[in-house]
Amino acid sequence: MSDDTATEPPDDGRETDEMNEPFTYNGGRVDPGESANIRYGISETYLGDPVRIPVTVINGEHPGPTVFLSAAAHGDELNGIEVVREVAHDWDHSILHGTLVCLPVMNVPGFIAQERYLPIYDRDLNRSFPGREGSTSARRMAHQIFTNFIEPCDLGVDFHTSTRGRTNMLHVRANMERSDVARLANAFSSNVIIAGEGPSGTLRREASEAGIPTITVEMGEAHRFQRRLIDRALTGVASVFAEFGLHRESSVHWPGWRTVIDTDDEKTWLRADAGGIVDMKRGRGALVEEGEVICAITNPFKEEEDIVTVEAPFTGLIVGVLENPVVYPGNPLCHLVGLSPDTLTALSRERTTESSRSEL
Ligand SMILES: [Zn+2]
Repeated sequence: MSDDTATEPPDDGRETDEMNEPFTYNGGRVDPGESANIRYGISETYLGDPVRIPVTVINGEHPGPTVFLSAAAHGDELNGIEVVREVAHDWDHSILHGTLVCLPVMNVPGFIAQERYLPIYDRDLNRSFPGREGSTSARRMAHQIFTNFIEPCDLGVDFHTSTRGRTNMLHVRANMERSDVARLANAFSSNVIIAGEGPSGTLRREASEAGIPTITVEMGEAHRFQRRLIDRALTGVASVFAEFGLHRESSVHWPGWRTVIDTDDEKTWLRADAGGIVDMKRGRGALVEEGEVICAITNPFKEEEDIVTVEAPFTGLIVGVLENPVVYPGNPLCHLVGLSPDTLTALSRERTTESSRSEL
């Protein structure tokens, strides 16, 4: 629909002598062939001290796209922080065609409090983009981040985890109706893509609408570093760099199988019909057969006659699942998605060759 030619890798024939552009933001500049660790003020505390976010800009020697990687818009979602930190630490400007803007902790007040939202009136930073001057504290912070470090970019990846008390498979969320966003989503090399434009005010939706194709990567649970998920995400990042020409030596990675789930016809959150304590039988990434018992909801005495079992209504993949094993009626138990016959075959084949469930 809206192909953005700025995200195309530069033509191989003409890049050798060209120099990359400086990266500039309010009050600073990073020249081609330089990297900088910046602490950038986006607000002030009750004491009048600056609230500063860490930003690493790695400006490659060679021209190419400018890419942002961001994490911890929700302050307790830690896996992405490690992904962005490792990219910022490990990738050198000497090998990059283009520029990396790494924002490992956007919601600094939430991160310090280890809470999802900004502690100031519980505002959601990830519903406050693109932000606005002269507005609420959350929107002012979002505005500072967006104008200085998102708008100069050609594409971006925003890392999240499941909400506290739940976990999910590594998956991409992206507006697959936009070809530029779909290209990025496919390049990230996840097994599962959940299609949809995302709620208003999220970084990925607002950046995409501003002409900066952006995806969200969801991975694991809050309050943890989950090494296998972090490694898979790093593979996805390198694959994106290959697709968009930032790193010519990397290659685009195919995850082996892929399913794209349309959020519109997704009625696949299984919810509890009884309150109680949940005995979960299957975990994140499990393939379950129709009729298989996924979990049992029990009373405080574990009385047999009061156990409510929950069966899979169809054969599918558990993309997300609760970790905190207590529910009211109506609370989500797991996110189960159906698979096409081809995907099911590919996934079953993979499962017989490696015990990979815990890596998902
Ligand atoms: Zn989040």
